[in-house]
Amino acid sequence: MPIRVLPPELVNQIAAGEVVERPASVVKELVENAIDAGARALLIEVEGGGAELVRVSDDGAGIPESELALAVAAHATSKVATSDDLAAIHTFGFRGEALASIASVSRFRMQSCARGAASGAEIEVEGGAMRGPRPAPARPGTVVEVRTLFFNVPARRKFLKSDAAETGRVTEVVEALALAHPSVSFELRSNGRRLLDLPATAEPAKRTLDVLGAELEPELLEFEERYPEIGGLVVRGFAGKPAIARPSTRAIRIHLNGRPIMDRTVLHAVREAYRGLVDPARTPTVALILELDPREVDVNVHPAKSEVRFRSQQAVHSAVRKAIERTLRAANLVPAFVPDALRGPAEPYLGPKAPLFGSGLAPARGAGGGEGAWGGAALRAPYVHGGAVSRDFSDFAALVGARAGDARDADADADAADAARSGGTAVEPALAGEFPYIQLLSGFIVTEDADGIVIVDQHALHERAMFAAFLDRLDRGALESQRLLVPLVIERSAREIEILGEIAPLLARLGIEARPFGPRSVAVDAVPTLLHSRGADAGAFVGDLLEKAVEHGSLVSLEGALHEIVDMMACKAAVKAGDSLAPAEIRSLLAMRESIERSTACPHGRPTSIRIARSELERRFGRA
Ligand code: ADP
Ligand code: MG
Repeated sequence: MPIRVLPPELVNQIAAGEVVERPASVVKELVENAIDAGARALLIEVEGGGAELVRVSDDGAGIPESELALAVAAHATSKVATSDDLAAIHTFGFRGEALASIASVSRFRMQSCARGAASGAEIEVEGGAMRGPRPAPARPGTVVEVRTLFFNVPARRKFLKSDAAETGRVTEVVEALALAHPSVSFELRSNGRRLLDLPATAEPAKRTLDVLGAELEPELLEFEERYPEIGGLVVRGFAGKPAIARPSTRAIRIHLNGRPIMDRTVLHAVREAYRGLVDPARTPTVALILELDPREVDVNVHPAKSEVRFRSQQAVHSAVRKAIERTLRAANLVPAFVPDALRGPAEPYLGPKAPLFGSGLAPARGAGGGEGAWGGAALRAPYVHGGAVSRDFSDFAALVGARAGDARDADADADAADAARSGGTAVEPALAGEFPYIQLLSGFIVTEDADGIVIVDQHALHERAMFAAFLDRLDRGALESQRLLVPLVIERSAREIEILGEIAPLLARLGIEARPFGPRSVAVDAVPTLLHSRGADAGAFVGDLLEKAVEHGSLVSLEGALHEIVDMMACKAAVKAGDSLAPAEIRSLLAMRESIERSTACPHGRPTSIRIARSELERRFGRA
């Protein structure tokens, strides 16, 4: 074929391939246009998941009749005029290609009335051919209607998912834009049914809760930090507690200057802040709102504009990470046995037949049978610590008996509880300021704190403690190293041997000396003392480390790598679930919950402790 210039409809259709992927992308472009036009109220209607109809009505500035045709022409925009404008973009749009693209792949109608104009006008475009403008009612604002999307690109239309899936995408897009624009009201309807109704508000936090769900409020930690030195960066929003992390990566919502983005740098910073607090397979619930001098960021990286390029990539990364880290550190993250957010409406006390815990967790069967989880479990306690109190079955039965006698007398109950706390009838703290505890099921420590009963997984907590100790030690310089009398020779792959040189600084920091030793093996001359003294298999550790290095392509980020490696060391060094611990060990382990960072989760993000809130107990026992 000879070379020729493409006709405009074809150019637009090609551009549409980039901008218009599905109905949700149409919604995004139309809503952004409305916000750019200063709209205060938006109605978004879709039918058939948006494949049949997308209609966006706004009360914005409108378009004068004389400019209607231009609005749907390619590269026609009112938002930028010079390349200086491009360097600091304040609007969503600027490429001037969205309407042209959408109109080239749909049956398109736009009706508008500019502010102050005596009458409105409308145009229609089908397959690149425009009709109008013709007169329309003087309704201030703009209505854009997109019917039978991709009617002329069957391959694309076939690719659309079910109505429900497409409607889901549309909802996500509207929610994302609504989050960033609390002062604009949004209503979304699908086949006439109202899916979202978000009234305008002056408070961004209110909008966030409206979108995320008010029932999540107790699980969300609000934050706001300012970094004037980084282009006036403001980092604010809500960080969800680890308990409400979700399997979907879309749980993290990021906005930059009012624009929803999916930037990898920022996403990484958020995940980094939660490292070790949530399972890597889950995504923390986060609404992150960034404000930054537009000159500090290039949004013109991709037609959909969801990726951006920061001028100070590293500074933004660390600001976001720190803001969220500080927030999480300041919060009490021990997950509730039944997170408030998941509990739904409070169930009343239904009498003695009501299940003790209705959340799918089978109550542990007690040795005595019929006493319920706690009674039974307490009977099997290997030991109960705290002063000289050591409880056997008869004592426990006596206590239960005494309480059963006046069960209907709430005051007496409270008195008994007080007596139990201050008197000698229950487990007592061994030392002033410490809570009592018992070790159960050979691996769990049950104790209390100000808010309720806390169950600790001793292995997970100890692992976290070792992790903190190693990291802390590393902060103060290279780990102490133990030279081996005879080098340890381990078989490794060629790639792993090759990578030895690249990770030399990391090895030095860990107190490891290793060198290639023939084509298929590595000689380890020195290993970290901490590991050596605990009798861990140093050869296996170095092997795992090399494997990790290859997997990560030489462990570029030293800090990230260190975390993973220290994690491996901690796991090797921690007490196991079945180990029985001396009282002093348990006490110091429990004390670590206060002194170390992120003690509520092990380095892999599994919880170290779970709390049954006092309020939950009171509710379940019908006391509330
Ligand atoms: P861009 O948004 O990049 O400028 P579009 O193709 O999306 O390009 O829109 C072209 C132009 O049409 C915009 O620059 C704007 O002037 C006008 N326009 C589009 N939608 C609206 C609207 N809802 N209200 C007012 N003007 C609009
Ligand atoms: Mg636009």
